[in-house]
Amino acid sequence: MSIQPPASPDRPGGFAALREAEARLSTRLYLKRGVQLVRGEGARVWDSEGREYIDCVSGHGVANLGHAVPEVTAAIAEQAQRLVSCPELFYNDRRGELLALLDAITPPHLTRFFLCNSGTEAVEAAIKFARLATGRLDVLAFMQSFHGKTQGALSLTWTPEYRKPFEPLLLHARFAPFNKPQALAEALTDQTAAAIVEVVQGEGGVRPATTEFLQALQAGCRDRGALLIVDEVQTGFGRTGRLFASEHAGLEPDLVCLAKSLAGGLPMGAVALTEAIDAKLFPRAHSSTFGGNPLACAAAVAAIRYLLDRQLPARAAELGERFLTALRGLKSPLIREVRGLGLLAAIELKARSRDYLEALMEEGVLALAAGPTVIRYLPPLVIEPAQLDLVVEKTAKVLGQPSRA
Ligand code: PLP
Repeated sequence: MSIQPPASPDRPGGFAALREAEARLSTRLYLKRGVQLVRGEGARVWDSEGREYIDCVSGHGVANLGHAVPEVTAAIAEQAQRLVSCPELFYNDRRGELLALLDAITPPHLTRFFLCNSGTEAVEAAIKFARLATGRLDVLAFMQSFHGKTQGALSLTWTPEYRKPFEPLLLHARFAPFNKPQALAEALTDQTAAAIVEVVQGEGGVRPATTEFLQALQAGCRDRGALLIVDEVQTGFGRTGRLFASEHAGLEPDLVCLAKSLAGGLPMGAVALTEAIDAKLFPRAHSSTFGGNPLACAAAVAAIRYLLDRQLPARAAELGERFLTALRGLKSPLIREVRGLGLLAAIELKARSRDYLEALMEEGVLALAAGPTVIRYLPPLVIEPAQLDLVVEKTAKVLGQPSRA
């Protein structure tokens, strides 16, 4: 049987035919926007009609380094020609290189690493590790949290719209108010295996945690013998102006979940954990076929080196400050609040954000939602100051006001 593809991007009309095929064949799970992205470079992407956009979606925070980074693509190409798959049944040179790098960049007390393929998988693994290590079942999460959509992670994700249709989920998941240190004494019990927290709640509306809250959470966990899991899936790798967001509050988490930009755009997740937790794991208690594959490891090594060599966390701090200040200077009556840390930034509107996101796209800026009334910006950390200024200008335009007061 010979199967003909519906079209080729290289032939006339090819893009349109392939877009139609995707619209017809993909599930209804994703609410797609009406453009077909085909190419990227730095902080810019292009659609199939040749229109250019400043990309403040960055693949939902994956493209911290921007698109088509020569160092990363070369590492992927080189590894693809050498060895793509190698399960953890065997040692692999690239995996060893990545583990050594993760060991060097994470806090000194985190000395073991589990490799997987996504953020939700990192959260699943962290929950299992915490339960094994403590012998307890309860996991505490926070209101407005987002930790993923597989069944375990979903049970720790606040949004009832995502969670309720699938209940009962993981039993023993509890939610406490975010940023309310006074609520922790009751929320943490001697049955709590772990508390899981985002230093800046991303999907839940870009809400930074206060240092007071995070410190109280850490102290409460220690008091109760519970473990602290910090979900750095969105905040990690420089996004908030530090390599890891937990550094802002001086946290020493027992487990850290990583994913998104870890491998420069290839799918990869990881959990960093302590020696003491690792000592409670047993062979085959958890595993992943693709986890730690050499291709993703090679990409991650190249991506992390690039991030460090160019000091992108510091760049995110500096540009983030400039960006947030400019957004706070906008005088539109539509704006309820501007929030963020580093280059994880958002405007909460007094109206639904969907039409404004569409309008921004018309103006050549891609941004995303974080709840119904939020415009969220996740630009690559390599974005040029002039490009960020243009994002502010276009935002001012769509919110109906001149860019500066
Ligand atoms: N945790 C956080 C904080 C996230 O922002 C996300 C995704 O947005 C996830 C977990 C889930 O990651 P993934 O979509 O890779 O499963």
